[in-house]
Amino acid sequence: MAMKPTFALGPPMAEPLAPLDVIVEANRCLNCYDAPCTRACPTGIDIPRFIRRIASGDKAGAARTIMDANPMGASCARVCPTEELCEGACVYTPDAPAIRIGQLQQHATDWLMADGRALFSPGTPSGKRVAVVGGGPAGLSAARDLARLGHQVTVFERDDLPGGLNTYGIVPYRLPAEVALWEAEQVRRLGVDIRTGVAVGTGVAAAELLAEYDAIVIACGMGRVPHLGIPGEDAGGVWDALDFIRRAKEDGAVPGLGDTVAVIGGGNTAIDAATASKRLGASSVTMFYRRGAERMTAYAFEIEFARSEGVEFRHCVIPKRIVTNEGRVAGLELIRTDTDGSARPIPGSAYTIPVDNVIRAIGQSRFAALLDAFGVIHEHGVAVVDDDMRTNQPRVFAAGDCMFRAGAGDAMVVEAAERGKTAARSIDAFLREGTA
Ligand SMILES: Cc1cc2nc3c(=O)[nH]c(=O)nc-3n(C[C@H](O)[C@H](O)[C@H](O)COP(=O)(O)OP(=O)(O)OC[C@H]3O[C@@H](n4cnc5c(N)ncnc54)[C@H](O)[C@@H]3O)c2cc1C
Ligand code: SF4
Repeated sequence: MAMKPTFALGPPMAEPLAPLDVIVEANRCLNCYDAPCTRACPTGIDIPRFIRRIASGDKAGAARTIMDANPMGASCARVCPTEELCEGACVYTPDAPAIRIGQLQQHATDWLMADGRALFSPGTPSGKRVAVVGGGPAGLSAARDLARLGHQVTVFERDDLPGGLNTYGIVPYRLPAEVALWEAEQVRRLGVDIRTGVAVGTGVAAAELLAEYDAIVIACGMGRVPHLGIPGEDAGGVWDALDFIRRAKEDGAVPGLGDTVAVIGGGNTAIDAATASKRLGASSVTMFYRRGAERMTAYAFEIEFARSEGVEFRHCVIPKRIVTNEGRVAGLELIRTDTDGSARPIPGSAYTIPVDNVIRAIGQSRFAALLDAFGVIHEHGVAVVDDDMRTNQPRVFAAGDCMFRAGAGDAMVVEAAERGKTAARSIDAFLREGTA
């Protein structure tokens, strides 16, 4: 799964633990009974167990414990909001610093990546065929577990490389593409056929998959960033945040990047676009968010990181118009909003600032047509599933961001991995017993 080298865009957000720190951290673990950290991990990694193994020098055992529970264990070690999950539940908090679980997880999985060994093998062939639509964290996790259960799996991925947003969407100083590609390679090594450059719906029809496979997992994620719906948006210098980050990651440069960048949005994607702009050389980068700081969906540690990179924040403000000059962005007209959280514009409060680029990072659209093609019931493009990831269609399951509804927690890699695992378990039950 070769790709041209991606650009690091500077030092990693968090340096790996030094060898001595690994020993100190691993030996701080109290091996709690019914460990709260494990319960707080969406994939249920047996955290005390992997930490014990690190402490006793068994790195392969530690890596196995992690990757067994989480096929995206190397990516998650870098991108999980650990303060909200495992580390937030550590019994040491709030009296002492939590054990640095994410960094210990990175230590073990980095070792495995360097070692190169395969940890798992395919199950006894079941004679059943499963198609997975989308090769991101959810699709790859489903494929990995289905292969371990003995099913013959084909992943259809429309991009040139697998990994989804882990490969193309998350900035390289938080998640290098090489880590995501290594995880995809572990799935391929189990005999999974990962067909890249094939979009379901155009390259291959949904009906074809339904005819040829015993079960389908839809794991297509979400789509592009929607338009702001304001004048001037088609000018040069206006970017979809995902395109922007992808360019930065693949090419190490973004054409037409000026000195002053305005990022519209208050979530993880906006933070990544803002810090990437800084690292690409923009001198002034400001995030504009329509509500107060307390309503931003970006995690506190990310906001802190963005501040440390020199990103500025303006709250309670929405874009009204992009000012253009000869087809390029020249400024941004903004209007202040009510501080009561309603995001209602305040009449007469508009003002204009000079900017060279506008990056929109206001969420992602949905793949409603793809769900329609499989006859899957959805709500505004969000696949409707039960707890076992079953859709209304008996042979069709859905996992990851495509079934993630706004207000139901955070769209995260670790959640996508867990939903993929659940879909695999349900499909296995369905294929073996006829019931999920
Ligand atoms: C900028 C950014 C930063 C983020 N930061 C974090 C973070 O720090 N921590 C965290 O936990 N999460 C983070 N996330 C969220 C995380 O990336 C997602 O929740 C996760 O990737 C969802 O996995 P998925 O497999 O459902 O979707 P995706 O990763 O989107 O993968 C879906 C795949 O399906 C493919 N596909 C789509 N349509 C088709 C089709 N018709 N045919 C074939 N293939 C198709 C796509 O090309 C893609 O490869 C971030 C997201 C973004 C955008
Ligand atoms: S996968 Fe994420 S939440 Fe689970 S233990 Fe690892 S870092 Fe913590």
